[in-house]
Amino acid sequence: MTLTQKKSIKYCTRCVMPDTKPDLFLDDEGVCNACRNYENRSQINWSERRVELDSILDKYRLKDGSNYDCIIPVSGGKDSTFQTLKMLEHGMNPLCVTATTDKLSEVGRRNIENIKKLGVDYIEVSTNPVIRRKINKFTLREIGDISWAEHVTIFTIPVRVAVQLDIPLIIWGENSQNEYGGPAADADKNVLTRRWLEEFGGLLGLRVSDLIGQEGIEPKHLIQYTYPSDQDLDRVGVTGLFLGYYYPWDGHKNAFVAQAYGFESYPTIVEGSIVSYENLDNVQMRIHDYFKYLKFGFDRSWDWASLHIRRNRLTRDEAMELVKKNGGKFPWSYLGYSLEEILSEIDMTVEEFTKVCDRFTNKKLFRVNSKGELYKDQQGNLIKINDDNAEN
Ligand SMILES: [Zn+2]
Repeated sequence: MTLTQKKSIKYCTRCVMPDTKPDLFLDDEGVCNACRNYENRSQINWSERRVELDSILDKYRLKDGSNYDCIIPVSGGKDSTFQTLKMLEHGMNPLCVTATTDKLSEVGRRNIENIKKLGVDYIEVSTNPVIRRKINKFTLREIGDISWAEHVTIFTIPVRVAVQLDIPLIIWGENSQNEYGGPAADADKNVLTRRWLEEFGGLLGLRVSDLIGQEGIEPKHLIQYTYPSDQDLDRVGVTGLFLGYYYPWDGHKNAFVAQAYGFESYPTIVEGSIVSYENLDNVQMRIHDYFKYLKFGFDRSWDWASLHIRRNRLTRDEAMELVKKNGGKFPWSYLGYSLEEILSEIDMTVEEFTKVCDRFTNKKLFRVNSKGELYKDQQGNLIKINDDNAEN
C-alpha cells in the first residue's frame, strides 16, 4: 500500500458490510443499521401484522370477479414466485406483470413460464430494445450503471398497468431499505411511493427526462419509463405494499418455497455471488453488481454473506472467507455467457468496458501504485486496501 492511502475501510463487526455502502451506518459498537434492523425483527408481532394484511386484502378483494384484486410485479425469480404463491394463498386473484429484462437468460425464461403455471393471468411489457440498448450504454458510461433502465421500468411498468387497468393494489416484495440498511424512517415504511422510488429505487440522480436528446432518444421512446401522474394515481387510488412488512422476509427460504413449486435454481453457485438462486434472469446483472464493487467495495457476495450471518447460517469468519473467494471478481462471464457476448448487446468492446470500469473505480478503496494507477492481477481483479477491520 502506498503512503497516500492511509484511510482504511471499516466493516460492521457483526456482518461483513463495509461502511462505504451508501445509507449504511455503524453505531458505537461498530454494528450496522441493517444488522440492527434485523435484530429489531424479533420484537415484531408477525401474527398481528398478518391480521393487518388480511384486513387490507379484504378491502381489495372483488366479490364479483369483475377485475383483478391486485398486481404482482414479477421477474420470475424466487421472490416473485413467493409473492405470487402468498397472494394465491390469501385467496387473491392477481394479475402478474413483468417488465421485460435487458437480456433474458434461458433459465430466466423457464422461471417466467413457471410463474404462469402457478395459475395466474400474466402480462409482459417490453420496451423498445433498440432504444433500451442505447440507454444501457449511455447510463453505463455516464453513471456507471448498465441496469438503470431496468431499475426504472420494474417500478414504472407495474404502476402504469395498475392505472390503466384500474387495479389499485400492488404487492411488492421486500423493502430493500430494511434488510440492506437505510434511513430508519424509510426502513419502517410498508408502502412504495414515488419518493421511495426516486430516493432508493437506484436511479442515481439521473432522471428519465435527462435522457431526452441523448443518442437520438425522444420523449416518445420513454413512455414506459415514466411514472404515472399524481392525478392518475389518486384517481385509481394506487397503493403499493411491501410483503416483507407482513412476512419475515428471507430470500434463502423463499428460494426453497419457490423450488417446491417449480422454480429452477442455477446448477452451481452463480458467478460473482455465493448463492445459486438469485439474479438468474438478466444476464447484464453481473456488470451492474461489479460496478457496485468498483464504487463501494462490495457486491452481492457481501450482501448474501451478511444475510446469512444475521440468520445464523454462516459465522462472520466463514462469510469473510467466502466473500474473499467469490466476491469482487472481474465479470468475465455470467450464467455461461461471456463478457464479450453480453457487451456486444450494447455495442461495446471489453477494452472500452475496462476503461469505463477504471473511470468509476473509487481509488480510495483499492490499491494503486505511486502514479495512482490501479493494481490488477492477471485476471484483471482489483485488490482492496483492506478486507476486514484491522486486527489491533
Ligand atoms: Zn452488519
